[in-house]
Amino acid sequence: MLVDGSTRRALQRLSRLAADASAHAWADEENSVALRQAAAKARQVALENLPAYLEQLETSASGNGVQVHWADGAQEANRLIIEIQQASAAPEAVRNHSQLLEEISLDRAAKANNIRLIRLHPGDQILELAGSRSSHPVWPTAHLRIDEISTATQRRWRVPITYDPDILASTIRMPLRRSLLRSYTAIIGLHFAVADTGDLVCLDNDGHNASLVSFSRHLICLLSLEQVVATTSDLHHLVRAYAHSAWGRPLPAYVTQVRQPTPPGIDGPREIHLIIMDNKRSHMFAEGYGEILRCIGCGACLNVCPIYPLIGGEGYGESPYSGPRGAALNPLLLRPDLANQQPYLSTACSACKPVCPVDIDLPRLLHEQRHRLAPSHASWQERTLFWIWRRLLKRPTLFRLGMRVANRLNRITHRGQGTKSD
Ligand code: SF4
Repeated sequence: MLVDGSTRRALQRLSRLAADASAHAWADEENSVALRQAAAKARQVALENLPAYLEQLETSASGNGVQVHWADGAQEANRLIIEIQQASAAPEAVRNHSQLLEEISLDRAAKANNIRLIRLHPGDQILELAGSRSSHPVWPTAHLRIDEISTATQRRWRVPITYDPDILASTIRMPLRRSLLRSYTAIIGLHFAVADTGDLVCLDNDGHNASLVSFSRHLICLLSLEQVVATTSDLHHLVRAYAHSAWGRPLPAYVTQVRQPTPPGIDGPREIHLIIMDNKRSHMFAEGYGEILRCIGCGACLNVCPIYPLIGGEGYGESPYSGPRGAALNPLLLRPDLANQQPYLSTACSACKPVCPVDIDLPRLLHEQRHRLAPSHASWQERTLFWIWRRLLKRPTLFRLGMRVANRLNRITHRGQGTKSD
């Protein structure tokens, strides 16, 4: 479960750099408290009125000429994407870097349906070449060393081994540009959608979302239902908060905003589909864990978590969501046997709480998850022991007596073992 030494050092270095950059960006922000409050409020307002905003989004987007679909789960979302892609008759599609697309395992579904799905983000390409998977929502290749990236690149394109990041980047980007130029269908996982305007929004640092939107003729957008925001003004607060926490800068390098299909003669998609997916979110609300759905995926909680660099992204099993956010979310998202231990991937240090730009109380959520899950996997012996322990803690005299008895038993046991070995 623990990652090897070099991966651990790479993740620790990344965490330090990203956390420092974010702390500086927030310190330089004149109205940091107001911005955090506005971002948290924007998420809270959206979640408290979710059905109404989703309905409004459907109306606005349909009015803009976007075809809106609803998906109950990952399987249905994949089915819709595959059907739309097949109707376009293109043999391949290009996708963006998105944890939402990872959540539904889109690549697997595309492969099963003989669709060639190309990942346009260079980081995703590197992961594919290295046979690895993303370990961080913002810095997907953070756990890989440059020699691993270089070897994977050399093996794929038979280029000389180099440790020059610029040469490596252009080697990886060149074939991606060719794929982009012939791309017909683009599939993107969104960051937000605005209820009152129907705008579909993606943030990134390298412009790959803008390229995907401009070059595609069919655009398929996936949104999980909690990503809706009420107004453009709420969107602005969230975009700024995201940039501070994710990249340590006041604004993202690119904000890609799509509203309607473009007419012939102008770059952009002629046809836009929006798939709004539930995938257990409604259950999370019903079970009282709606707070975790405020998350905007900035990765700030991962950067301060002492456990995350020790186990990396793979420590969180099949889910693309890692760190404290993943530990709180995954037991609600995955099958119980796959994620019920994850709330224990925490030292209870609470370092994740103050860095969250939308004020999610992750320590409390983790604690509640442990409480909820404990009876389901603790043995009867453990449960009995803790039952006795709880009662002893409430009665000091009994506790001291219990400790004396335990010490005595301990000594007797050790003496017995010593005698045997003699
Ligand atoms: S829980 Fe908060 S800090 Fe962690 S990824 Fe989500 S928004 Fe960012």
